[in-house]
Amino acid sequence: MIFRTRFAPSPTGPLHLGHAYSALLAHDMAERAGGVFHLRIDDIDQSRARPHWEAQIYDDLHWLGIDWPAPVWRQSERADRYCATLQRLWARGLLYPCTCTRRDIAAAANAPQEGAPIHGPDGLVYPGTCREKPLPAVMPTDCALRLNMRNALQEIDKASFQETGTQPGTHKIRAEQMLDQIGDVVLARRDMAASYHLSIVLDDADQEITHVVRGEDLFEATKIHVVLQSLLNLPTPIYHHHRLIRDDAGKRLAKRDDARAIATYRAEGKTPQDIRAMVGL
Ligand code: GLU
Ligand code: ZN
Repeated sequence: MIFRTRFAPSPTGPLHLGHAYSALLAHDMAERAGGVFHLRIDDIDQSRARPHWEAQIYDDLHWLGIDWPAPVWRQSERADRYCATLQRLWARGLLYPCTCTRRDIAAAANAPQEGAPIHGPDGLVYPGTCREKPLPAVMPTDCALRLNMRNALQEIDKASFQETGTQPGTHKIRAEQMLDQIGDVVLARRDMAASYHLSIVLDDADQEITHVVRGEDLFEATKIHVVLQSLLNLPTPIYHHHRLIRDDAGKRLAKRDDARAIATYRAEGKTPQDIRAMVGL
């Protein structure tokens, strides 16, 4: 099987040093393995995606010396695939509609009987408010859909993933941890074809990605992806979670951090070799 990896940025801001590290690492790994590096555009959130950011991504990556085969996949063109998968999960009783606002979730999670609120990969762990409501006959498309994690875990038993990054080894999905610390994650958002978790899992599977190179901030989210792969009978790639690039104060870089945007360094006359040196490659 040929080594196939990808870099999947969202065109919602400039690429910064952290993105450069992730992209260069994946690109170098593919090159060493005689494999393929794909660029994918995670533009599922059409309210935030902008064509000029997408154009800047192509430009910055080319400048860094990175190439990829055409065509570049865009999530905004794959809504049918996401929707068909949601329908299948719905038919299996694995989804339920959720109409809670962020404020509702915070209020329920902070209720005295709930104990200390727990933060998972998507923020506060959902307290399950909508889980027990009767299910409509037809899958609604005008509200969020959550994965019923308990039902999902009953359908899978041996989900695990292999890791070659900072914590190499094979990680087994533990049911109690999935329920308590991750919970019923959103798979479809109100005005979006699918959530990040569902779209990324389907994209990786359909593109036959064998190695996912991503930041260690996504380590917990990977567990959700492995559960989804198991539910949907999709292969689980090998995951490489890499260290995060931090600013001088030790904080991880954010999209808004224009000071560390690749474009800023380019304008200052830095070279791709300088960027590699800055991220320790
Ligand atoms: N679009 C995601 C990001 O930029 C992709 C990360 C991933 O799933 O590897 O954070
Ligand atoms: Zn709800």
